[in-house]
Amino acid sequence: MADVFTKEQRSEVMRKVKSARNKSTELKLIAFFKANSIKGWRRNYKLFGKPDFTFPKQKTVIFVDGCFWHGHDCRNTRPKDNADYWTKKRERNVKRDKEVTETLQNKGWTVIRLWECELKDENLLKEKLHAIIGV
Ligand SMILES: [Zn+2]
Repeated sequence: MADVFTKEQRSEVMRKVKSARNKSTELKLIAFFKANSIKGWRRNYKLFGKPDFTFPKQKTVIFVDGCFWHGHDCRNTRPKDNADYWTKKRERNVKRDKEVTETLQNKGWTVIRLWECELKDENLLKEKLHAIIGV
């Protein structure tokens, strides 16, 4: 199927999707931190791969991966149009995510990756963030 967007339009759409996603997922997680008295997190901490949240004292980082962009096999994904384009883009992201995780782990960081769709499940979050809750 032919691309319905020009290059410029596509960049614009992608920017919008990305910034809207970031804002809402970050706010959700910050609300979760507050509700569970999780402290010591930093935003925009200068670290390889730009983690979404960094806990320097616990040497732990959190990435929140958008299901669509990072290839989660859940119902949030899989557009039919331009499937090749999205598949390639996601494959690059997945490969990059793996590299970032491995690099940080090799430097002694604990890497927690959350899927965007998991943010709705508070029990699951508690389970995955066990290491930094109550520290
Ligand atoms: Zn998902």
